[in-house]
Amino acid sequence: MLWNGWGDPDRATRLPDSVVGLLRELLGVRPDPAPPVPLEDLAPPAPRACARALEEIVGPDHVRTDDEARIRHTRGKSTLDLLRIRAGDARDAPDAVVLPGDHEEILAVLAQCSRERIAVVPFGGGTSVVGGLTAEGESFAGVVALDLRRLDRLTALDAVSRTATLQAGLRGPRAEALLAERGYTLGHYPQSYEWASIGGFAATRSSGQASAGYGRFDEMVAGLTVATPRGTLTLGRAPKSAAGPDLRQLVLGSEGAFGVITDVTARVRPLPEVRRYEGWRFASFAEGTAAVRALAQDGPLPTVLRLSDETETMIGLARPDEIGEANGDGCLAVCGYEGATEEVAGRRAGAHAVLRAHGGNPLGEGPGESWAAGRFSAPYLRDALLDVGALAETLETAGFWSDLPRLEEAVRLTLARELPSSLVMCHISHVYRDGASLYFTVVTAQGDEPLTRWGRAKAAVNDAIIEAGGTISHHHGVGTDHRDRLVDEIGPLGVEMLRAVKDRLDPAGILNPGVLIPPARG
Ligand SMILES: Cc1cc2nc3c(=O)[nH]c(=O)nc-3n(C[C@H](O)[C@H](O)[C@H](O)COP(=O)(O)OP(=O)(O)OC[C@H]3O[C@@H](n4cnc5c(N)ncnc54)[C@H](O)[C@@H]3O)c2cc1C
Repeated sequence: MLWNGWGDPDRATRLPDSVVGLLRELLGVRPDPAPPVPLEDLAPPAPRACARALEEIVGPDHVRTDDEARIRHTRGKSTLDLLRIRAGDARDAPDAVVLPGDHEEILAVLAQCSRERIAVVPFGGGTSVVGGLTAEGESFAGVVALDLRRLDRLTALDAVSRTATLQAGLRGPRAEALLAERGYTLGHYPQSYEWASIGGFAATRSSGQASAGYGRFDEMVAGLTVATPRGTLTLGRAPKSAAGPDLRQLVLGSEGAFGVITDVTARVRPLPEVRRYEGWRFASFAEGTAAVRALAQDGPLPTVLRLSDETETMIGLARPDEIGEANGDGCLAVCGYEGATEEVAGRRAGAHAVLRAHGGNPLGEGPGESWAAGRFSAPYLRDALLDVGALAETLETAGFWSDLPRLEEAVRLTLARELPSSLVMCHISHVYRDGASLYFTVVTAQGDEPLTRWGRAKAAVNDAIIEAGGTISHHHGVGTDHRDRLVDEIGPLGVEMLRAVKDRLDPAGILNPGVLIPPARG
């Protein structure tokens, strides 16, 4: 992973000159922004001596205190995180990076850190975009990033129940490869799939691009093992249970604040025989939304179902490898079907009838296949935009169908007001019977003080989302960015409940301090 950008450095991309020209003309992007500070010029604060006892637990080879390891575990991968690190700001670097080999070592690390008041930040793929890795460690004796990459095995496969136990540090592609060798798939493909981990998916309630067909990650989880400072939690004795509240749900989305997820037993499916992706064009976002809702509510449901608004369609963001090319007007919907050959044929024919009945024009497989080919490319464009002085950031929410038009308008107008001369694009990315998520991408000039400007805009958008009945996050999570709005989502009593759970599982408060749970006032 590029330390100050996204992904594989060999796949870094440049924007065509025509696009750079348009960014300057339309958005006022200034030429020649300051280049990123080189890695060797970054100077994280001197590490606090907190790693010695941890070396005894995981072995000296698995504790790193060099600058590069610390910088590579500093914050996550939001655009603001990238702006900070590109500007040379490594103030939040952990004091040490610890790489445990198994669940028992993690229990021992947590016990030791509790005794010595060392903050622990569980680190999966490091792709958080909500400040989930930016723990508040000043009042602790040190901060360690607990990198889970050595927990990288498929430990069990139950072909009868169709479940697989995957260790938390497995990245998306490796997990899929291990399952594919046995004929199965998870079907979880968030845009960060190539780098994010199984534990991270569970800890953030991630949602993938094929969620219409395979479900959100939290719906895939049948069981979890969690290491806490108080011991081990083993959850999920049966697929469903009436034995009180489902504690799996308490761990899903807990963002490292309650414990370290060490493995996940996930519901898997047979590898699809066929995959077909297609494009449809609608005259307007409202018309496309009606079609998508009909599929979500009455079926048949494609495996992938997404609808870009007019601006996103025009720019071609749904097909990042072809950005800047002529994309036509109206709104592009991408519908994908995965499964057994006959079942896909029937589902596809049924969906076609619904799409046509709602005014959709078929565009064939071309746009669908080019979406599929570029489905993990957009984050590389983000780096290319930063290189030329622009800034692209995303935010997301969800609401009930009846609130969705109001929610979309509220966010769009707020962004237009707070960030004039910006490009605001939106798509529906995940659908349910009762509602859908909205995913916004904003491109604007970096200008002076981009962090402050974006922070102000984001706060105003959060107000607008709450006011319009949406959630502060559909799948990115809470982290530190949304933490202070959690009370708007679940109320003061809900926040108190989370605090009580944390106090019981993590009495010394070492796990991801400041992430997820707002501090108690007074
Ligand atoms: C370019 C880009 C595209 C993205 N696209 C999507 C998308 O399509 N869908 C989506 O849902 N998200 C998306 N994300 C957000 C992010 O990838 C997800 O939140 C992902 O689930 C994080 O996984 P990770 O392994 O990288 O976790 P990390 O970033 O390492 O950690 C995320 C949080 O979970 C905690 N954590 C990590 N592992 C564990 C564990 N084993 N036990 C306990 N706590 C843990 C961390 O402490 C942190 O608070 C995107 C991010 C980027 C940068």
